[in-house]
Amino acid sequence: MRILIVEDDPELNRQLEEACVEAGYVVDKALDGEEGHFLGDTEPYDAAILDIGLPKMDGITVLENWRAAGHKTPVLMLTARDRWSDKVSGIDAGADDYLSKPFHIEEVLARLRALIRRSAGHAASEISCGPVTLDTRTSKVTCNDRAIKLTSHELRLLSYLLHHTGKVVSRTELTEHMYDQDFDKDSNTIEVFVGRLRKKLGTDMIETVRGLGYRLQEPGSGG
Ligand code: CA
Repeated sequence: MRILIVEDDPELNRQLEEACVEAGYVVDKALDGEEGHFLGDTEPYDAAILDIGLPKMDGITVLENWRAAGHKTPVLMLTARDRWSDKVSGIDAGADDYLSKPFHIEEVLARLRALIRRSAGHAASEISCGPVTLDTRTSKVTCNDRAIKLTSHELRLLSYLLHHTGKVVSRTELTEHMYDQDFDKDSNTIEVFVGRLRKKLGTDMIETVRGLGYRLQEPGSGG
């Protein structure tokens, strides 16, 4: 899962980045509204953390422009303490959730997880497909109740597939959601990760859809 952080306070931006990376996300960040707007407009993110008070373009305008352009990325808005009018403007502009400063990083992470799950149509924090379960709170994966140890790349790949069960996901899409903008993207590595995941899970749930990509579905569900 790939997250965009738009926050002009360098220290807070760094803290958010550190926490998100530790939680297993890949992160792109911007320190002003213009750059943030550009990234959100041109790169696919699974969620964005967007501050309201930003230089060059304020957070409300950034969000309004994204929504006007049809981007549905879930957005967690950061507002100044006790500014209820900020919250109203944020939600009216298309924010999915908001958090007032100061906040605990753990709350940011919990809200991000919920936003990402809900946008993929999952209400609970555990996401399952057949024998495979991912606990989005702890990033622990089990298969038939057996704990599976995954590298961060394998985990991101499986997490993305689990959030999009039953859909065909292209290699390009997987690459875009597994690496940040500075990564030298090579979609061939996806095949390697898929191979390792199949081996570790020991089930035949990741189907190769020739010429299109991959699809995760319950064993025996056909198609
Ligand atoms: Ca600010």
